[in-house]
Amino acid sequence: MNALTLRACFQNRPLCILLALVAVAPLIAPEFQVTLLNYIGLYALVAVGLVLLTGVGGLTSFGQAAFVGLGAYTTAFLTTAQGLPGWIAWAGASPWLTLFIGLALSAGVALILGALTLKLSGHYLPLGTIAWGISLYFLFGAQEALGGHTGISDIPPVSLFGLTLDTGGKMFYLIWAFLFAAIFTAQNLLDSREGRAIRALQGGRVMAEAMGVDTMRSRMVIFVIAALHASAAGWLYAHMQRFVNPTPFSVHSGIEYLFMIVIGGARHVWGALVGAGVLTVMNEWLQDWLPKLLGQAGNFEAIVFGILMIFMLHHARAGLWPFFVRLYARACPLTPRPPPRVEGVAPLSRRTMPEKGATILEACHVTRRFGGLIANNDMNLEVRAGEILALIGPNGAGKSTMFNQLSGVDTPTSGEVRFLGHSVAGLGARAIARQGLSRTFQHVKLMPAMSVLENVAIGAHLRGKKGVFAAAWRQERAEETQLLAEAARQIERVGLAEFMMNEAGSLALGQQRILEIARALASDPCLLLLDEPAAGLRLKEKEALGELLRKLRAEGMAILLVEHDMDFVMGLVDRVVVMEFGEKIAEGLPEEIQQNPKVLEAYLGGVEE
Ligand code: ADP
Ligand code: MG
Repeated sequence: MNALTLRACFQNRPLCILLALVAVAPLIAPEFQVTLLNYIGLYALVAVGLVLLTGVGGLTSFGQAAFVGLGAYTTAFLTTAQGLPGWIAWAGASPWLTLFIGLALSAGVALILGALTLKLSGHYLPLGTIAWGISLYFLFGAQEALGGHTGISDIPPVSLFGLTLDTGGKMFYLIWAFLFAAIFTAQNLLDSREGRAIRALQGGRVMAEAMGVDTMRSRMVIFVIAALHASAAGWLYAHMQRFVNPTPFSVHSGIEYLFMIVIGGARHVWGALVGAGVLTVMNEWLQDWLPKLLGQAGNFEAIVFGILMIFMLHHARAGLWPFFVRLYARACPLTPRPPPRVEGVAPLSRRTMPEKGATILEACHVTRRFGGLIANNDMNLEVRAGEILALIGPNGAGKSTMFNQLSGVDTPTSGEVRFLGHSVAGLGARAIARQGLSRTFQHVKLMPAMSVLENVAIGAHLRGKKGVFAAAWRQERAEETQLLAEAARQIERVGLAEFMMNEAGSLALGQQRILEIARALASDPCLLLLDEPAAGLRLKEKEALGELLRKLRAEGMAILLVEHDMDFVMGLVDRVVVMEFGEKIAEGLPEEIQQNPKVLEAYLGGVEE
C-alpha cells in the first residue's frame, strides 16, 4: 500500500469509524456479543467470495459451505490425527501449515469442479453446485477418519507471535483481519484490468471475448477465489470452535450465504458484511423472540427469512448497501472520481502496422447456415491495409452474420477466413483479437453501469499483462495507469471526453456506438470492423466520424464497415461490396456501384424512394 492509498483510506471516514469500532469491540462488548461478531466476520468472509462469484460474476453457487467444510476439516484432521504416516505427519505441526494445505486443497478441488461445472449455462450451473455441495457434505459425514457425524474435537488453538488465541476475544482480531484483507483485496481486484474482465462476465461475454478476454479463465479465477475465502473461513471456524462436525457445511448453509449477499447487496463487496451482519443478528433475535411470541418452539426464523428474501427480490434487488450509500451521500456528497492522468504517462507499445496495400483479411467461399436458412452463401471479400471497404445490402442480407464469421464470434459452416495470411476460421474471437482485429457491434454491447472510461479500457485488455494477485495487492498500478491513459486518449480521439467518467448507459445510442469505436481502437488493431457505426448519429457527429475514419485510414488501418447511410458511405470508402440474400451481388468503386443496375434494383432504388 503506498502513501496515496493510505491517505485515501484515512479520508474515508466511515471506514475509519468501522475500524475503530472493530478495534475496541472485544474490549467493551460482552462475551456473547463478541462471539456473534466472530460469526459475522466468518460469514462475511465467505460472502465476500460469493459477491465476486455470484453478485459480480453472475455464477450462482449453492455449494460454498462445502468449501468452508474443506478448510475446516483439513485443519481439524491434520492437527488432531495421531499416528499419521511420515510423509504427512509434519503437516499437523502448526495450524498455519494446515491453513495453507487447506487453501491448496480447496483451490485444487475448485479447479476440478470449476472445469466440470463452469461451462454449464443457465440453471445447470446452480444445479451443479448443489450436487457437489451435497456430495462434499456427505463425504465429511461418511468418513470414519473424520469422526463421521460426531465430528472431530480437541482441535488446538492457533498461536500468533507467541500468543495463544484460545478465546473468542482473541480469535476476534484474527477473523476480522482476514475479513478486512478479503474486502480490501476484492475491492482492488474489481478495480483493475482483471476486475473489468470479471465485471464483464455478467451480460458481456461475447463482447469481452471479442476484446481478447478469456472469459472462462475469469470465471475460474472468481470460482477459485471464492473457494479460498470459504476455505479460510473454515479454518478460522475450526480453530475458534475447536471442534467440527458436518452440520454447518451443508447446502442449507450454502443457501444462507446466498441470502446474505442478496440482503446486503450482491454486487458490492461491503454488501457481504452488511448481509452477514443483518442475517446473523436477526437470526439471533428471531430465535429468542419468535418462540416466546408464538408460545411454541420451532425454527420459525426460517419462515421470516423466506418472506424477507421474497420481499427483497421484489422491491430491493440491489440489497441494503446501495441504500446506505445513498443515505450517506445525501449527508456528505461523495466526490466523483477524477478522470485518469494522461499527461506524462508513457504510451503502451504499439503493434507494427502492415504495409499499406497489403492484404489484411480474406474471406474465401464463406458459407453460414442457420438450419435451413443460408445467411452467407459463398462469400468472398478482401480488405487491404490503408483502405476502407464498405459492406452494404438491404436488411437481412447477411452483413452482420459475415462480420461474426470474420471476427470469430461465429464459425463459418464452410469456407476459409485468412487474417494476416493465417487461417483463422474457428479460432474464436479472442485469438483473432490478439492478432489485431477489433470490432464494434450492430446491437451495442457495453457494460451500462460501468463508466465510459472503464468500458473503453476493456478494449485495452490484451495490452496489459498483470494478473489477479498483482491486482489484489495493488502491484499493477503503473500498468493500470498506462491502460487508463490509453483508454482516455481514445475517448478524446473519438470526441467523448466530456462523458469519460459518466455511466456508459447514460449516453445516447449514437454515442454508445462511438464508445465502441474507442474501445476497439484501445486494442491497437490493424483491422477495424464497424457494424453500422453511423446509425443514430447527427450530421455533425457523422462528419466527425468520417474524419476519424479517414485519419485512421491514413495511418494504415484497414477498415471494413457496414453502413446504411449511402451519402456517408459513398463519400468515404474506397471500395464497396454489395450483398443480397446472403450473396455478393456486386463489388467495385463507389461510383461503379452507384451505377450498377443490379444494385440499384436490389438496394439503392429502395433506399432512395
Ligand atoms: P444484416 O446484418 O445484413 O441485416 P444479418 O446478418 O443480421 O443481416 O442476418 C441475415 C439473416 O440471418 C437474417 O435472415 C437473420 O434472421 C439470420 N440470422 C442471423 N443470425 C442468426 C442466428 N444466430 N440464428 C438464426 N438465424 C440468424
Ligand atoms: Mg446487421
